[in-house]
Amino acid sequence: MSRKDSPKASKKASEKGKTKDKHAGKGAKKDANKDVTKAARKSDAKVPAKPVHAPRGQRGDAPREAPARPTAIDVAPEPRRNPAKSAAKRVSRAQQRDLLVAAAGRIQLPATADVVVCGGGAAGLVAAIAAAESGARTVVVERDLECGRKILATGNGRCNLTNLWLNADVYRHPAFVRRVCGEAWRDDVLRFFEESGLATCMEDEGRVYPLSRQAASVRDVLLARALRAGVMLAAGRTVAAVDTAVGTADGLAVHLDETAIGGTTAMLAARSVVVATGGASELAKGLGLAWVPTRPVLCPLACTGAPLAELDGRHAHARLSLARNGQELAVETGDLLFRTYGISGIAVFNLSRLAQPGDQVEADLLPELGLDAALLLARNAGTAAGVMDPQVARALGGGERAVRAAKCLRLAVTGLAEPNRAQVTAGGLDVVGFSPATLEATLAPGIFACGEALDVDGPCGGFNLAWAWKSGMVAGRAAAAHAAGNIGRHA
Ligand SMILES: Cc1cc2nc3c(=O)[nH]c(=O)nc-3n(C[C@H](O)[C@H](O)[C@H](O)COP(=O)(O)OP(=O)(O)OC[C@H]3O[C@@H](n4cnc5c(N)ncnc54)[C@H](O)[C@@H]3O)c2cc1C
Repeated sequence: MSRKDSPKASKKASEKGKTKDKHAGKGAKKDANKDVTKAARKSDAKVPAKPVHAPRGQRGDAPREAPARPTAIDVAPEPRRNPAKSAAKRVSRAQQRDLLVAAAGRIQLPATADVVVCGGGAAGLVAAIAAAESGARTVVVERDLECGRKILATGNGRCNLTNLWLNADVYRHPAFVRRVCGEAWRDDVLRFFEESGLATCMEDEGRVYPLSRQAASVRDVLLARALRAGVMLAAGRTVAAVDTAVGTADGLAVHLDETAIGGTTAMLAARSVVVATGGASELAKGLGLAWVPTRPVLCPLACTGAPLAELDGRHAHARLSLARNGQELAVETGDLLFRTYGISGIAVFNLSRLAQPGDQVEADLLPELGLDAALLLARNAGTAAGVMDPQVARALGGGERAVRAAKCLRLAVTGLAEPNRAQVTAGGLDVVGFSPATLEATLAPGIFACGEALDVDGPCGGFNLAWAWKSGMVAGRAAAAHAAGNIGRHA
């Protein structure tokens, strides 16, 4: 993923484009594509796709399909920065960090807790709320200086918190997910947020957002509810290990590293521990439970096989088919964004859950038009510009040739692009080692897991957070029950 369509850049672009996001219901298609592509679009919008003084025949209104050439994006000057402003920003960030370190340092950890939740992200915060509201003395230990920071980055800063069409079949291990989440999953999540005081709204494809369209609303209501329930939020501390063999009355020893807040190490005894440390977690891996190797998913694909340099930055509404050795594995329809390295967009992100180097992606850039109908239109018009983005038409050779190419654009997958910016990690704690009724490890009583720490992932659209919330509720409640002596409830 280039800087233009990185989550960070997307978030920035989202913040800049806030005023454009008002027409929720109306801009259905636009919204569907926003998560991953808005930043790139924004970049396109800032700089005209063609230089203003383009020679005749190469302007946007050109009757002929001019040969592809570098877009203005390639030659756009670096944005000017105000050094004084940047320095002020740096200082205030440093000050902010100091304040957070000081606040985290003031939290006095108890010697024991009923439930210790490792990780104060989406799943961990909900698990802690569920445990505390069930009567357990609950502590969240979070490595970051604040809980719930990642929530702020979700959905381009708007947080697509769930989906109205939740369906276990779209997840890895659907049978397990179905048993954990139950029939009322969708309503459980919506009710949880309603009870937390969050107003929500629905956009296209069942995506649910906070009414404020601000991810901070989601994070803040969770933190407020956790504090109301009596949860202790201990940020700036990393759980280094969980010792299951200490033989104390409280059962488990949670070893902490407090160097981020100027401390050294600490130990917290707990009756139950909820592992909610997200994807690719060293802590989860070190528990000695069955482990599935992790890999990033929901990211762009690196590909070859199309004139990607000429197509860079162009969007198409496409039907994408992923195949391995001629066998179709998955089909996705949605926004496709061409990049020099390959392809991006929500549909591509979803395919990245299955794609491997050597796979083929066949893109139909005109899914609403049959080949014959498209050819006829192009013939009548003397250009393919009437049936597709003129720049895409030019890059694909123009006229009938472009139409034929657009109906069946073949790309060879060479790998994932920018995997370090992937939205989700597949793999993690193997679900076979966990009771779907309680999310307790069958071989390690008192250890529970939820969210991305488990080998469960879903497509874009609010499905991953929906899993985080619901699995957090299940694990938190069960951890509290275990702490209260109500044990041995494996299903
Ligand atoms: C840019 C981006 C946008 C996204 N947008 C969406 C979206 O709109 N909708 C959607 O459904 N999903 C989205 N996702 C995916 C979603 O954010 C995750 O599925 C979800 O956050 C997983 O929740 P979690 O609590 O399991 O893990 P995390 O949110 O990763 O939380 C884990 C927490 O544990 C802490 N931690 C880790 N190790 C330790 C340790 N040893 N000790 C203490 N603390 C530790 C981490 O600091 C972190 O706070 C997005 C992801 C990204 C990256």
